[in-house]
Amino acid sequence: MKPPFRADLHCHSTCSDGSFSPFEIIDLAVSSDLQGLSITDHDTIEAYATALPYAEKKGLPLISGIELSCVHKETSVHILGYAFSLSSPAMTTFCERHWKRRRERCHAIIERLEKIGLPINRESLPKKGIGRPHIALEMIKKKYVSSIEEAFRNFLGEGKPCYIPGEAFSVEESIDVIHQAKGLAVIAHPHLIKNTKIIKDLLSMPFDGIEGYYSLFRSPQEKPWIKIGLHRGWLITGGSDFHGAIKPQILLGSSWVNQETFNILKSHFANISL
Ligand code: AMP
Ligand code: ZN
Ligand code: FE
Ligand code: FE
Repeated sequence: MKPPFRADLHCHSTCSDGSFSPFEIIDLAVSSDLQGLSITDHDTIEAYATALPYAEKKGLPLISGIELSCVHKETSVHILGYAFSLSSPAMTTFCERHWKRRRERCHAIIERLEKIGLPINRESLPKKGIGRPHIALEMIKKKYVSSIEEAFRNFLGEGKPCYIPGEAFSVEESIDVIHQAKGLAVIAHPHLIKNTKIIKDLLSMPFDGIEGYYSLFRSPQEKPWIKIGLHRGWLITGGSDFHGAIKPQILLGSSWVNQETFNILKSHFANISL
């Protein structure tokens, strides 16, 4: 019997802070009976250079995706972009600016760690797509902490001694870049945003969708966001936020959208790619 249609629209590869390469994610998606996928690396679309031809070869429908890091009223907010043009100069330039921001921020975090007597080896860190989980992994290697969670809880999390926000990109500008690239802008994992003022602001912005299905949501938590999205005529998206070994409890395909939703994005991506 054919498995029910599932498309995971939120996962991270080795191009950001995931531990599976784009090839490995596609292989895993196929072996997990997923029938659609979007790889949403933090602030980069690098995965697609290899992922698009490989997914085609494997017969797995793949649509472009990205998870952009933004700051609104000094609070970190993630937004997802889907089905945009991968050759958009607006998007590629924006990703380059993020790359520079990440590199500078990483150096600043390492300097803070050095100052408190916790030096780490810069050479072991990835040159591109660097994020706090990579720094946390180095801290584990050095035995400063025993887990990624501990590194965030004591040093790297928002408000902790080695937290550096880095250059801030606004939500408005990030939505605009996604729209310039002809894509759809989606509020990522809204239940993780604890400040209701931030939520209120986001809901008045020109988004096209909201992530209603998410691996860490329980069904009663999903319902209000789905209702809010439907009320606005937004697309309700969903995905696992798979990172591989960095978050081993989250499995690829543990959250997903149905065929109807995936087809909307797939048609949009096909049309803008013409
Ligand atoms: P960055 O892109 O450098 O801001 O780091 C964001 C990444 O760190 C995302 O993948 C988050 O899921 C992860 N992250 C944020 N807070 C924590 C935490 N407390 N424990 C583990 N991972 C976290
Ligand atoms: Zn991540
Ligand atoms: Fe996120
Ligand atoms: Fe994510």
